This record gives sequence, structure tokens and C-alpha cells, in this order.
Amino acid sequence: MKKHNYSAGPCILPQEVFEQSAKAVLNFNGMDLSILEISHRSKEFVSVMEEARALVLELLGLEGKGYQALFLHGGASLEFLMVPYNLMKENGKAAYLDTGTWASGAIKEAKHFGETIVVASSKADNYTHIPKNYKIQADADYFHCTSNNTIFGTQMKSFPELNIPVVCDMSSDIFSRSLDFSKFDLIYAGAQKNMGPAGATLVVVKEEILGKTGRYIPSMLDYQQHIAKESMYNTPPVFPIYASLLTLQWLKNQGGIKAIEKQNEAKANLLYTEIDRNPLFKGTASVEDRSSMNATFVLNDESHAETFDKLWKAAGISGLTGHRSVGGYRASMYNALPLESVQVLVDVMKDLESKI
Ligand SMILES: *Cc1c(COP(=O)(O)O)cnc(C)c1O
Repeated sequence: MKKHNYSAGPCILPQEVFEQSAKAVLNFNGMDLSILEISHRSKEFVSVMEEARALVLELLGLEGKGYQALFLHGGASLEFLMVPYNLMKENGKAAYLDTGTWASGAIKEAKHFGETIVVASSKADNYTHIPKNYKIQADADYFHCTSNNTIFGTQMKSFPELNIPVVCDMSSDIFSRSLDFSKFDLIYAGAQKNMGPAGATLVVVKEEILGKTGRYIPSMLDYQQHIAKESMYNTPPVFPIYASLLTLQWLKNQGGIKAIEKQNEAKANLLYTEIDRNPLFKGTASVEDRSSMNATFVLNDESHAETFDKLWKAAGISGLTGHRSVGGYRASMYNALPLESVQVLVDVMKDLESKI
């Protein structure tokens, strides 16, 4: 039987996406060729790319608003440096919010391009909350934030309103909740957390913010080059893009982001209610900043770990161990995880309580 997959990424995708992808590996689109062996310039793949790029904008409500969607290589980690390369002026500066490991990874890269101001950080509190009431320099070239902190289980519930470009790493909560995406000028996300398999990176950028730095940008790192080549500057990651398209189509059939958001809220409520009720467990993130995607929690008494681990593994749960840097447990409840899987986890937590 299929496991209840709580992996933080790569992660669960809809079962029908696995089935359709498997078919395409053998015979794509009735071509009698595998998706793995066709040219990225074939009309069949060009239409996959076009549809995927258009569907991203449609689902985010950004059609006809001056945005371009790109499928690139290199993961969200490469965007940590592509963002300053493309947006930080020579002798310019940028403002960053430090909310966790990934945010600080982005800050580390930006520092090589110019003055990088950390407007606020929750590092001293082990990133258990999102800083509030910070000031952002009005003359910064852009503001960068991380909407969901995959490792620490916190999520930004509101975003500052600014007159400078707002850049957001949405790797672990893109397509999971409705936001006014037009408030962001650049959104990026590694595919492997809510959109598809590892190997593709999504960048959604408002074209008017590009081309203003005055610095030379190597072609492969230049968003304008990728836009000019319709996201095919070089060979794109064909299979991850195809599987991402299938996931986006699945999402649209579910009713889009608004519909999936309701399901995500139901899943998060079910689990957090149990974490708060069950005397054996404790959530690690501040309640007001809790992520609806990644719930982090610990046992109040570590000596129950062996019993708990045995119970959830026996129940068919996989991937519940916390990130190596924080320990404890992390339940990643991405779009494709069904409510029933959360119920199985909650039942195991109740079961542990009854055994102790
Ligand atoms: C996983 C993750 C990353 C890193 O993604 P890669 O695609 O592995 O480079 C960056 N930011 C966030 C928020 C993440 O969750």
C-alpha cells in the first residue's frame, strides 16, 4: 500500500501525476516515443512548455499583468544569486528578511553583489517566529523574503507594502494558498515541494523590473535572456517540466488555489489541534506564525521517541523526521497529501497517549 508521505521535498505529488508521467516515459502523447527521448524543440514539447508557462500565470492570477513564467535549472539555491545578479545595481543595496536557513542562504549570496541589509532576523530565537515591525530602506533595489520556512515550520501571513520590488522565495508554499500575487515582482520556487519532481525551478518575474543593474550578467543567469528564448535558452529539464504541467493541471481541476487552500487549512487544523491537545507533544513554532505546509513538533519527553517512531512507521507513515538541523518531527502537508493521511498521523498520536 502507498505510504502516507510527509517528506519535505522532493515530496508527494498526486497519484494520477505519477501514473500519467509513467505512461509518458513509455509513449508520450501517442508519438511512440518516450518523453525522455524527444527533442525539446519538438512541437509536442514546445506546447508542453507553453502550456506550463501559461498555466502558472493563470493559477496565480497574473495573466496579462506584465509577468513571465520561466522554468530554469539550478534549484531555488541558484536563484539566491540570480536575484541579486539581475536586480541589485552596481553599488546598490538590497533589503533581506532573515527567517531561517534558506533566507540566510539567500543573504549569503547577495552579500557578494553589494550592500545587503538584514532588516530583521529571528535567528537568536532559533527562527521559531517571523519578525514583525521592521523597517525597510525605501531606497533599496529590492526587498527579499521567504514566504514559508520549510525547516522551522513558520510562514509569513502578511507581506509589507512597498514601492520597491518585492522578491519572494515561495519554494515550499507556492500554489498552496491565495495571495495577491501581483504584490510580488519576482517569485521563485524549486519545483520539488508543491509543483513537481526535482530538477526544475520556477521563476515568475515582472518584466519591467529587469535590465536596470548596469552590470554584465552571464547569459545563463540573465532572466532577460531566458525570457527572450521563451524559457529554452538551453535544453530545459524536459521531464520535470512535463510532470509539473500535469500537477498544475491537476490543481486547476481541483478548483485552483482557492479550493486547495481550503483543504490545506483543514489538514493543518486537524494536526495542530492534536499537537495542542495531546499532552505528549509540543509545537515548536509561534502559534501565529505556524506554517500550513510544514508542521514542526517535538515530544515533551524524548524517552517516548522509540515507541512513537515504531507506531508511525507501522501505520505506513514516511518522512516524519525533522530536519537534521532542528530534530524532532516535521509533517509536510503539501497540496497532494490527502486529509486521510493526516488523520492517520493524528490517530497514531492519540494511540501513543493511550499507551503511556
Ligand atoms: C528547499 C528550499 C530551498 C532550496 O531549494 P533547492 O531547489 O534544493 O535549491 C530554498 N528555499 C526554500 C524555502 C526551500 O524550502
